[in-house]
Amino acid sequence: MNDIKKMLAPFAGLCPACGRRHDAAIGRVEIGKGMIERLPEMMADLGNRPFILADLHTWEAAGKKACELLAAKGAAFSSYIFQEDHLVPDEKSLGAALMHFDFACDCILAVGSGTINDLAKLLSRISGKPYLLLGTAPSMDGFASASSSMIRDGLKISLDSTGPAAILADTDILRNAPMPMLQAGLGDMIAKYTSLCEWRISALINDEYYCPAIADFVRTCVRDCVENVEGLAAREEKAVEAVTRGLILSGAAMTMAGCSRPASGIEHYFSHIWDMRGQEFGAPHDLHGIQCGTAELLSARIYERILKIRPDRDKALAYADRFRFDHWKTDLRAFLGRSSEAMIAQEERDGKYDKAAHRDRLERILSGWDTICQIIREEVPSAETIEEILKKTGAPVSAEALGHTGEEVRTAFYMTKDVRNKYIGSRLLWDLGLLEEIGKELFPDERPVAFYTEPGIID
Ligand SMILES: [Zn+2]
Ligand SMILES: [Zn+2]
Repeated sequence: MNDIKKMLAPFAGLCPACGRRHDAAIGRVEIGKGMIERLPEMMADLGNRPFILADLHTWEAAGKKACELLAAKGAAFSSYIFQEDHLVPDEKSLGAALMHFDFACDCILAVGSGTINDLAKLLSRISGKPYLLLGTAPSMDGFASASSSMIRDGLKISLDSTGPAAILADTDILRNAPMPMLQAGLGDMIAKYTSLCEWRISALINDEYYCPAIADFVRTCVRDCVENVEGLAAREEKAVEAVTRGLILSGAAMTMAGCSRPASGIEHYFSHIWDMRGQEFGAPHDLHGIQCGTAELLSARIYERILKIRPDRDKALAYADRFRFDHWKTDLRAFLGRSSEAMIAQEERDGKYDKAAHRDRLERILSGWDTICQIIREEVPSAETIEEILKKTGAPVSAEALGHTGEEVRTAFYMTKDVRNKYIGSRLLWDLGLLEEIGKELFPDERPVAFYTEPGIID
């Protein structure tokens, strides 16, 4: 039994911590040095004739070698290699993959990690053929999920697809991935500090489902990555393996929990907002995990500040009273463009700004304040610690380094609460009537404000 199966073994059967059944829905996973040699044997488990999907970069990194190994075993295969320098997961790429697909093939070999994996998941779903993912970079935790992050009609969306039947991660290949991709993988892992913190806080305030066993499982993965962080910049095998395993397992943790809580919180919403603005306005954006790592540093600062709050019921109620839905919509549209429409429609369904619901939450926040602070202290390291971790890999340590002004960061922070119907730090601050007060304090900008004042609030 390999590492991954051993780590998932405690989750077979009913979970003693939460009483639910957790299915990681994960097939065979092999991680380690020289693992690519196992490719022909793993491929043979899925079919006789693979269709290979790669792009120019992943072809060089691993595709060529994969073909040599398959050919040496006498296996027949077809292939399609995208020729774009920057492959985009949109209609054109999916169309090209489909139009080049060889229906005589009975399985798929995806050589890549991000876009190639997203496309292969859809190709697998459409064709009904199982696929093996041969990873080329440990850059984010979507390896094993059954959804594809795509761009449709110019907007980023998530489409249901099919997860890989098997994953092959050769650390000799992964450790040679471009350094920003290794930094991104670590960034997506340290993001889990706030994800787990917010999961627990929401369970307390909103009675949201929470599994302590899954949370602990993710904590172990993060610890493993951070303990090895010194070796990541040196591309040491052990560090690369820890990040790869952490990413695969935290992806599996989301499947087991049936929600994204174990692996995604406010820091991910900063990243989503930067992506949305990148698409809509050409604003700066970066790799998912790089953005999540930087946003984790911002989030640690936000939580450090939350710890200093003395909640005030009257202030919170007066603040919620001043909220105007039409102003909020205008602000959202101005900052996010078309992506805001889905968020507006979501709020119309969920009613998180409903005043009665706010009063109920507020009472629970006030009575549970000490516990909330205790959770934060247990889950989120200091901003100084996060900065040190990022620095050890050479990753960016400020939003300015990613090209965002203080005002943009502050506005993105306000809007993190609207990305999904998920209770996160910015919603807690809104509930307390302190979102703008703390936003201006943490993310100041001396330059004149372009258009934006306060989300939905008129004084
Ligand atoms: Zn459980
Ligand atoms: Zn992520």
